[in-house]
Amino acid sequence: MLQSKLFTKTTKEAPADEQSLNAQLLTRAGFVHKTMAGVYTFLPLGLRVLRKIEDIIREEMDKVGQEMLMPSLAPEINWEISGRKDTLSVLFAAKAANDLSTKTNNSSYILNPTHEEIITPIAQKYGLSYKDLPFAIYQIQTKFRNEARPKSGLLRGREFGMKDLYSFHTDEKDLRRFYEEMKDSYTEVFNRLGIGHDTYITIASGGDFTKDYSHEFQTECVTGEDEVHICDECHLGINKEVLAKQSSCPACGNKKLRMIKASEVGNIFPLNTKFSQAFNYYYTDLKGQPQIVYMGSYGIGPSRLLGVIAEKFADSKGLVWPKAIAPFKVHLLSLQKDKEAEAIYQKLTKAGVEVLFDDRDLGAGEKFADADLIGCPYRLVVSAKTLDQDSVELKERTETKSTLVKISQIIKELK
Ligand code: ATP
Ligand code: MG
Repeated sequence: MLQSKLFTKTTKEAPADEQSLNAQLLTRAGFVHKTMAGVYTFLPLGLRVLRKIEDIIREEMDKVGQEMLMPSLAPEINWEISGRKDTLSVLFAAKAANDLSTKTNNSSYILNPTHEEIITPIAQKYGLSYKDLPFAIYQIQTKFRNEARPKSGLLRGREFGMKDLYSFHTDEKDLRRFYEEMKDSYTEVFNRLGIGHDTYITIASGGDFTKDYSHEFQTECVTGEDEVHICDECHLGINKEVLAKQSSCPACGNKKLRMIKASEVGNIFPLNTKFSQAFNYYYTDLKGQPQIVYMGSYGIGPSRLLGVIAEKFADSKGLVWPKAIAPFKVHLLSLQKDKEAEAIYQKLTKAGVEVLFDDRDLGAGEKFADADLIGCPYRLVVSAKTLDQDSVELKERTETKSTLVKISQIIKELK
């Protein structure tokens, strides 16, 4: 990608109304644009990162379930059936504008904040026999929640991305088996995203669904909204509500827990029979008898993850992307040597390396500052000085020292 063609530009100052570090940096670097409080546009650079996060999640989810896509807009009735129309305070309802203008009171719609109410009747249509169970369905989709005073940038949107997977089982035992598998799937996702070491499987209470535990995946992040107590022996977290009921690690008894600030990047939940009961979802067992279906739900927030990762790895100069999700692997800077740099750009692109090529007519200082702000893992500089030695200067975003690499060796060096 030629940087001269990128329609976004970086800015030195963050918008005055952005309090969170992630939104400040992502806005300055041209990854996102705030359309209104809690609602962000993903600009070309931001969308590249978001897609890479989603692709990693998708690859792991494809190992355990099938992808589909449910609508954002739902009829109110589904939410009335579950009872959540009156209990979920973050629910957004929508009306058609022509209904509003004619003051007719036609039906309202719900902008789905999650999809149990949508998936359950669909699953019920196809998963009717014990032979059909278990199965798992997921989607990567936009959710709407009227969060109070969203001020954490991408960490808490009113419109945000979620991967939500739902599983369906003949009994609780099978649900538990799958639930444990999902812990491993999620661990793999967060490892691949480069935050595995700092992400803790955290015991949480069951909320209003179940009396037993659910699990959150909490990533350490100084500006995170959650407090989690860590057992370093087990690499396990215990959330605040659970800690009020017990003061030591439930796995090993360790009493020396350590409090961290964290952001919840994922959540797995045994729904048991809450929604199958509401929607009357029974399957037929081996003996021809109707039996209630057991369900689980499993969420990950790709847009929140983008914010958490931006914030966690940033330094005083700007963003620092993990290699697996960087918008481009290489930021190639031409210092008045456009023709030679262009040849290197072509060569790298042909070899399948993703390159952002700064071909703009700007001074070295500005180009260096932009490369640091945008945060691609490798910076390559082409100048008269490097060309004298048939070389380019290579620097990793996380390092201070650079090295000279022969032009003939660049691809080998980067792979
Ligand atoms: P929180 O306690 O942070 O509000 P939640 O328990 O409401 O999260 P879930 O309903 O379990 O979250 O949603 C699954 C995942 O979706 C969360 O783990 C998180 O990664 C993401 N998520 C939830 N709410 C938001 C939001 N407002 N903005 C961005 N991502 C979100
Ligand atoms: Mg919430």
